[in-house]
Amino acid sequence: MATLRFKAIDEISRREPMKAKLSDERISSIFGADVFDREKMRHYIPKDAYDSMCRAIDEGNRIDRKTANQIALGMKTWATERGATHYSHWFQPLNDSTAEKHDAFFEPLIGGGSFETFRGELLIQQEPDASSFPTGGLRNTFEARGYSAWDPSSPAFIIDKTLCIPTIFIAYTGEALDFKTPLLKSLQAVENAAVDVAQLFDKDVAEVSVTLGWEQEYFLVDEALFLARPDLMQTGRTLMGHIAAKDQQLEDHYFGAIPQRVLEFMKDFEEQAYRLGIPLKTRHNEVAPNQYECAPMFEEANIAVDHNTLLMNVMRRVAMRHKLRVLFHEKPFTGVNGSGKHCNWSLMTDTGVNLLAPGKTPKNNMQFLTFFVSAIKAAHDYGLLFMASIASESNSHRLGAHEAPPAVMSVFTGSTLSSMLDSLEERVTNKKMSPDEKTDIKLDIGKIPEILLDNTDRNRTSPFAFTGNRFEFRATGSSGNCAAPLIAINTAVAEELVQFKKGVDKLIDQGVKKDEAILQMIRNYIIASKKIRFEGNGYSSEWLEEAAGRGLESIGSVTEAFKATLRPEFASLFNRHGVFSEAELRARYEINNEILVKKIQIESRVLADLATNHIVPTAIKYQNVLIQNVQGLKDILPDQYRELAAEEIRTITKIAGHVKAIREDVHAMVEARKKYNNVTDVVERAEGYSQAVRPYLDTIRYHIDHLERIVDDQLWPLPKYREMMTIN
Ligand code: ADP
Ligand code: MG
Repeated sequence: MATLRFKAIDEISRREPMKAKLSDERISSIFGADVFDREKMRHYIPKDAYDSMCRAIDEGNRIDRKTANQIALGMKTWATERGATHYSHWFQPLNDSTAEKHDAFFEPLIGGGSFETFRGELLIQQEPDASSFPTGGLRNTFEARGYSAWDPSSPAFIIDKTLCIPTIFIAYTGEALDFKTPLLKSLQAVENAAVDVAQLFDKDVAEVSVTLGWEQEYFLVDEALFLARPDLMQTGRTLMGHIAAKDQQLEDHYFGAIPQRVLEFMKDFEEQAYRLGIPLKTRHNEVAPNQYECAPMFEEANIAVDHNTLLMNVMRRVAMRHKLRVLFHEKPFTGVNGSGKHCNWSLMTDTGVNLLAPGKTPKNNMQFLTFFVSAIKAAHDYGLLFMASIASESNSHRLGAHEAPPAVMSVFTGSTLSSMLDSLEERVTNKKMSPDEKTDIKLDIGKIPEILLDNTDRNRTSPFAFTGNRFEFRATGSSGNCAAPLIAINTAVAEELVQFKKGVDKLIDQGVKKDEAILQMIRNYIIASKKIRFEGNGYSSEWLEEAAGRGLESIGSVTEAFKATLRPEFASLFNRHGVFSEAELRARYEINNEILVKKIQIESRVLADLATNHIVPTAIKYQNVLIQNVQGLKDILPDQYRELAAEEIRTITKIAGHVKAIREDVHAMVEARKKYNNVTDVVERAEGYSQAVRPYLDTIRYHIDHLERIVDDQLWPLPKYREMMTIN
């Protein structure tokens, strides 16, 4: 009987090429077609309601019941005209996915007949029976009370005949149970602080928003092979597999021609994305075989986060149409690069100024430097929090290797800006400066845009790199929610800006001129954050040594990272800015530990099953073939067989050794699991799982991968790396 592996290979060889069915229209004419944006609102809701909706979006004003009814009616009319039959509150619970519960617009009438309806109260708030989302003890299951509340700042959209309404998800007691609630709060915190500081330079600034441009990396695997790999199906990564002879060593995949079948998939999901208003701009191959990336034009952060999670769903769905599976796991294949999700972060005023882009005048550039050093100081003071925000079991496979930022924070500014900061540190003083000195400094500051123009510095080894007009946070994992790092970055930068403004005000009170006060504060920030700046190779071991010498903390393990979030200085930061209460931080801490346990537990169970039911029996089957061969040689060549079969005998022994080791390790792993399953404290359980269960995943794999090299290819039951890493 053919194994699943050979059935899959056979199926692929007989498959017809897939083509995307695309509309003939230009992107600009389908862009946003499935989104209830302002243009559609103007058309579908009365003027008064439209105006209050705009105020809700722009200023966060509340929407009253009557208006909500009018908006709901407009939404329903628009959606049903487009063929939608259901509506759903759409939210992002704490498990890196999205949640939706669909209800029909349709309502039967007593006495016969039916109609379609959608009322304001259903738009504003719902109580999904969502008792099994992670809550970290915030909500007792028997109460099962959490509710979703409409976020008017992110537009509703239609997907698969369902009107989806972006919502936040909170417990009845008010604590956040999702990513969006704290994200919105952190956006508010940084906006408040940034407006205050920006007004030092321009009184007209009334709003500042965070811009986010993410870059999503992912792998593709043929569906037939995916379905023949229980580990990929159940854990999102391969728990075994000997590296292919050729993987990424020739670097011929990176930026190479995109395989036709993959291109069809890309065109297909891009069209869906455009209809949903997701402004995708780039697509290309990544470093590893079958690894790709897509990135949109940056957007206001709340929308960008929604668009990223939405796109991940769209990609999963469209991939299946193309008989492909998309892998968002950070490290689906050992031995080749993993996947990240770089988050490009900046601040934009309502006057259209990017606060992290150098401008044309000394004044503009003083403003740029103010925000620039504040972000650097945020990374200095709260860098550990940045790193903790993206710590997860799956991302830990990628971080710290020679492909992703190490577990220690640093900031890359480029040599030009770095020397500019050094020179400001030297020349600005706390004493009164002479007019000449000031003019000199300002002249220099005014030159920043020119010097940046020919500054092509790029450093891909830094976790937080300045790339000309934004910071790029590179440690985020491909499967994670961008909101997590943004919450940390926004809140930390908010704090630094608040302190900056306070410092300037104080100096002004002491009689220092505003310009000079700002320069002095910039200098203070440069000095205070000096040790976080690093221009060299962040992947090198020298850097880790140097970082330790500089007193920069590094994160040793995922559980340690989780623990760091509870430090009093971080808890009080979040409290001060109204982002997280103590209870919420604690809940998130528990949820993270719980998820870690579950992930390792699932991987461990899957590996134990595969090892015991697939690999060991296969190895023994092949061992028996060898034994028979040796036996046969002995029968016909009794004098020479020892010499002739020497290699076979060695192989038989090797197989026996690996099989024995696998059996022992599987047994020990199961025992370790049992031990820690009995530990009630979830933090202790997580530590136990990481330290006592997880290492067996590697040792068992080691033996399996050796067997893969020995055993007859025809007998090997699971698709091999070389098969999964080619798409034809
Ligand atoms: P690279 O791979 O060199 O980093 P990409 O073009 O792949 O460059 O990605 C650049 C990302 O940076 C895009 O997602 C883009 O939208 C984003 N970006 C550009 N300007 C800003 C900005 N001002 N704020 C936030 N993100 C930005
Ligand atoms: Mg990038």
